[in-house]
Amino acid sequence: MYDIASIYQAVSVADAIRALEADPSALVIAGGTDVLIKIREGKLAGCRLVSIHELGEELSGVTQAPNGDIEIGPLTTFRGVTFSKIIRGNIPVLGEATDQAGGPQLRAAGTIGGNVCNGITSADSASTLMALDAVLRVRGPRGEREVPISQWYKGVGKVDLAPYELLVKIVIPRDNYEGYAGHYIKYAQRSAMDIATLGVSCLVKLSGDKKVVEDAALAFGVAGPVPMRATSAEAAVRGLPVEQAVTAIGKAALEDVNPRTSWRASKEFRIQLVEELSGRALAEAARRGGAAI
Ligand SMILES: Cc1cc2nc3c(=O)[nH]c(=O)nc-3n(C[C@H](O)[C@H](O)[C@H](O)COP(=O)(O)OP(=O)(O)OC[C@H]3O[C@@H](n4cnc5c(N)ncnc54)[C@H](O)[C@@H]3O)c2cc1C
Repeated sequence: MYDIASIYQAVSVADAIRALEADPSALVIAGGTDVLIKIREGKLAGCRLVSIHELGEELSGVTQAPNGDIEIGPLTTFRGVTFSKIIRGNIPVLGEATDQAGGPQLRAAGTIGGNVCNGITSADSASTLMALDAVLRVRGPRGEREVPISQWYKGVGKVDLAPYELLVKIVIPRDNYEGYAGHYIKYAQRSAMDIATLGVSCLVKLSGDKKVVEDAALAFGVAGPVPMRATSAEAAVRGLPVEQAVTAIGKAALEDVNPRTSWRASKEFRIQLVEELSGRALAEAARRGGAAI
């Protein structure tokens, strides 16, 4: 039984924003895979909901703008991201990440927008979106604004969404993906239907001869209270031969992270995962980019 006081089915983004303004205590529901769990657990019992679930025409799908930027509608399901031809052809690492959330049913219902708006450090798409320096376009009663993902996370479960605002687009600027190869590793206690003990996403751009790391982006989930970039590690490997970079990146990443102990794993184990998986993620990304490693 779900204890829901009311649910309003919005017919457009403008209508959803109006409905939220008219009912300030109402909560947005998209795929509902986070919200409904909380309602069932009693944490949101008796809540009022504004559903954007039927706004697929405005809020779902992946497109490529004339300038090459890739735009993802927040209502696109995990599955929709993974199977998008545009994602497969340009940013396969993002599809690799969304393909590791939950199981097949969850991936057909949960949306990438919900995954970004829930503000959770273990969100499987979040570290790759951090590595890609995604830009989040939000719309509210006063119009649209863009938030770099580096400024999005404000604390556990808190993101930079003002009252009555909706996430309406996730933009991946062309310069942030073109020429990069990537790899996402989710370490979990089992291979499906489990939240990440640690998630690591690495993007790498190699020199023309594929021997040197020209640029790298490394980001983690569950290495701190919110998804995070490992900027010291990135700086440490820029300009290094690939094999040296693979050896160096894990130790350097320890400067950046701040994991905690939870029932899933101890802080010490997560630190070990950060060190080991950073090297593995970089090695596989470099291999995909053409390095002989
Ligand atoms: C069995 C199960 C397994 C799971 N496994 C994983 C997993 O392995 N990895 C993982 O990352 N997650 C997992 N999840 C969590 C969940 O599926 C994801 O976080 C999913 O992306 C949430 O999307 P949703 O559309 O269902 O969000 P909803 O539940 O509809 O919403 C989530 C939050 O985002 C807000 N929101 C949603 N869309 C918008 C928008 N466009 N604008 C503003 N606010 C918005 C809502 O108000 C709410 O606060 C799992 C959940 C379940 C139930």
